[in-house]
Amino acid sequence: MQTSIALSAATQHYLDLEEKYGAHNYHPLPVVLDRGEGVFLYDVDGKRYYDFLSGYSAVNQGHCHPKIVAALTEQAQKLTLTSRAFYNNLLGEYEAYITQLFGYNKVLPMNTGVEAVETAIKLSRKWAYQVKGIAENNATIVVCEGNFHGRTTGVISFSSDPSATKNFGPYAPGYIAIPFNDLAALEKAFQNKNVAAFLFEPIQGEAGVVVPDSGYYTKVRTLCTEYNVLMVADEIQTGLARTGKMLACDHENVRPDILILGKALSGGILPVSAVLCDDEIMMTIQPGEHGSTYGGNPLACKVAITALEVLQQEKLADNAEAMGELLRSELQKINSPFIETIRGKGLLNAIVIKHSNPDAAWELCLALKENGLLAKPTHGDKIRFAPPLLISKEQVMECVGIIEKSLAVL
Ligand code: PLP
Repeated sequence: MQTSIALSAATQHYLDLEEKYGAHNYHPLPVVLDRGEGVFLYDVDGKRYYDFLSGYSAVNQGHCHPKIVAALTEQAQKLTLTSRAFYNNLLGEYEAYITQLFGYNKVLPMNTGVEAVETAIKLSRKWAYQVKGIAENNATIVVCEGNFHGRTTGVISFSSDPSATKNFGPYAPGYIAIPFNDLAALEKAFQNKNVAAFLFEPIQGEAGVVVPDSGYYTKVRTLCTEYNVLMVADEIQTGLARTGKMLACDHENVRPDILILGKALSGGILPVSAVLCDDEIMMTIQPGEHGSTYGGNPLACKVAITALEVLQQEKLADNAEAMGELLRSELQKINSPFIETIRGKGLLNAIVIKHSNPDAAWELCLALKENGLLAKPTHGDKIRFAPPLLISKEQVMECVGIIEKSLAVL
């Protein structure tokens, strides 16, 4: 098995800078990128790679999409930030566009994904007190074990991952965790009259692309309606065409009460997130009760409209569906004792590696890198395969070849 790889002087230089001056809160693959185009990334030595991470599914539209970059550069020369102290000419246009596209009364714009999750939690609690009639400070939110919704102190309070929580306490109360994909546990949790919302990822991304049973979203919807609990879908990673539909919940034609979007809402250009819901929920928040300096800035609005247009114009959901099928079926044909599982939906996929060496997935990612494909392990033994959604059939076939060849190092 491969244990070390030679790095160029340029690569080493940038690694050393980050090592010395940056916080060590990530463990990146040793590759230094300086250009991206479509499904490809290029390193400082000019080597080309297929991107099989897509910025954790932020770059669904492909790197530096010309239409999104054009929207960015044009708007950046005109107006970038007004704050919400004043109106700007793009926020209303964006709000009308995104609410009509997803079929909700209103949107609340934020920046990073975790801020949108925090926003959805605040909305759920306000609704619980003002509409559902739960006694103040008693609202409870049901979440799933193995969740990943971001990194704020609020959101890590309901994480079950020790690396997200250890020595970051005390944790905020008000959450109950149940197993993912467990409807009996969900219904049991709903017996508690203080439950305001069920917050879940339609597919657990960071946990290693864990796909629930078919019919899960439908039954979640039914239970939430029956018990008057808000269905809050965090589609930050699964949404925006990644799984072969505009939203993962669309696979079962299910409409959540609160929809959380982020990542590909800007096509990987800048942090743009959003929370969508109807007036009964959104109008519980009054001026001054929530906001963000950059949320709804005109640059983000222009970029987000264009990023959403690109997804539709280029039929990226359809391509994700077709290329995802192809990728999984071709991966099934690889005869390797080290692939334990291949799973996913659309172009959100993962393989689970089975090997006596606990670092095998990392070693495989190093080999993939050497062979021109970038992917990253999650939770040790799982590797996500999530390329930009414009990947072609020929490119998928070439990537499967790279994966097969790279498995030989194990
Ligand atoms: N929710 C989900 C499902 C995610 O996958 C992520 C990021 O990976 C987040 C929330 C947090 O988004 P951000 O890193 O933009 O705060």
